[in-house]
Amino acid sequence: MEHGTGTDLLVESDQDLKMSRILVRYGELALRGKNRGEYEKLLALNIKRMLADFEKVSITRMRGRLIIHCSGEVSEAMDRVCDAFGVHSVSPCFSVPAKIEAIRAEAVRLMGEELSERSSDGSGVTFRIQTRRAEKVFPMNSSEINRDVGSAVLDVYPGLKVKLKNPEIMVEVEVRTSIAHLYTKRLPGPLGLPVTSAGKVVSLLSGGIDSPVASYLAMKRGCEVVLINYHSYPFIGEASKEKVIALARRLVKYQPRIRLHIIPFAEIQKEVKRTAFESYRTVLYRRAMQKIAGRIASIEGALALVTGDCLGQVASQSLENLHCIGSATKYQVLRPLVSYDKTEVIDIARRIGTFDTSILPEPDCCTVFQPRRPVIRGVVAKAEELEANFDLDRLIQEAVEQREIVRLDCQGRESRRMADKS
Ligand code: ATP
Ligand code: MG
Repeated sequence: MEHGTGTDLLVESDQDLKMSRILVRYGELALRGKNRGEYEKLLALNIKRMLADFEKVSITRMRGRLIIHCSGEVSEAMDRVCDAFGVHSVSPCFSVPAKIEAIRAEAVRLMGEELSERSSDGSGVTFRIQTRRAEKVFPMNSSEINRDVGSAVLDVYPGLKVKLKNPEIMVEVEVRTSIAHLYTKRLPGPLGLPVTSAGKVVSLLSGGIDSPVASYLAMKRGCEVVLINYHSYPFIGEASKEKVIALARRLVKYQPRIRLHIIPFAEIQKEVKRTAFESYRTVLYRRAMQKIAGRIASIEGALALVTGDCLGQVASQSLENLHCIGSATKYQVLRPLVSYDKTEVIDIARRIGTFDTSILPEPDCCTVFQPRRPVIRGVVAKAEELEANFDLDRLIQEAVEQREIVRLDCQGRESRRMADKS
């Protein structure tokens, strides 16, 4: 049985048949076990949010598939659905009553579209019809439908050649109880798991190239990402903050709602400069960032932190320093980029649309009082000893209280407010 969340495919009217449809396939692995229903619901919810500005969107869940019904610009809707984590592939889908005459006619029409895209009359072009029957009530079996529809297509385009393996055009037919879906195109989705299915993380977003990509990859594995940025006003200007907000605007394409906490960091940096040796400044900044991120994680109910660290990318990202920095928090620190080359990260940054913003030349807070020679092998005990020389806890408390919270959604809505001091 098909089961619908909105429109029931079993009783669709002719009017419904005129709406555009997008068929969404999702990765099978994630469908195992009893979480499957939850996973499907989250994917449907995320897609619904991504398409919130489309009129009359409804999503029908079927075994192993989602069908999106929408009116409006289908190619724009397809582009958005192709960014929804958990999606394996997407097809614009055309639905007709489950009658062989209707299936034939639609297959011929789709073939006509495919050939006109190729400016071809079909001569020498290879094709096949591939049918699946979800319900076995249809009076013909799959190979009978293939043959019947294939010969109808050949009658109209006699130059075509049937080829079962790797044809140039494949017309897929899915026959259900009262309706049949036909499609010829498959666009790849981003894979992964639906955002929010894995729980919440706090991702440290600088204005650089790496951390937006790390945030994206955390989303890809189903994390709901809460962003956090450290901003060193007045040493660093408003433009750096706006750059980070611009990056969050890029990321909201993949996670329909995002919160960004902007933490004032200058007071901590001043105290580090005043009390610690120069070489330890960067490590101490980073440890303070981890501690604050942990506070935000507990406020948000997040279970892990995410950073854009990449092992050995720069001298300060040594294993010793990652250990020294990571040990400042009790939270797991996920580092999705740990083994990536910079060129690989740049490729992803370009693909996901963060690169052009990341390379804008705005300074990050880490450049404030930057040591000439940062320590390469930070030692935890040493860092802790230096932190005891000033009231770090109080400064962290104040920074958390004075944070600004920016909320963004994929429809372009945005709000900014200072945190409540509770
Ligand atoms: P990125 O390109 O993400 O800035 P990077 O290679 O420049 O990374 P670092 O500047 O050493 O690396 O920072 C390592 C990680 O620390 C960043 O990926 C980010 O997760 C976090 N981080 C650094 N600066 C900030 C900041 N101002 N606000 C939030 N997180 C930061
Ligand atoms: Mg950086």
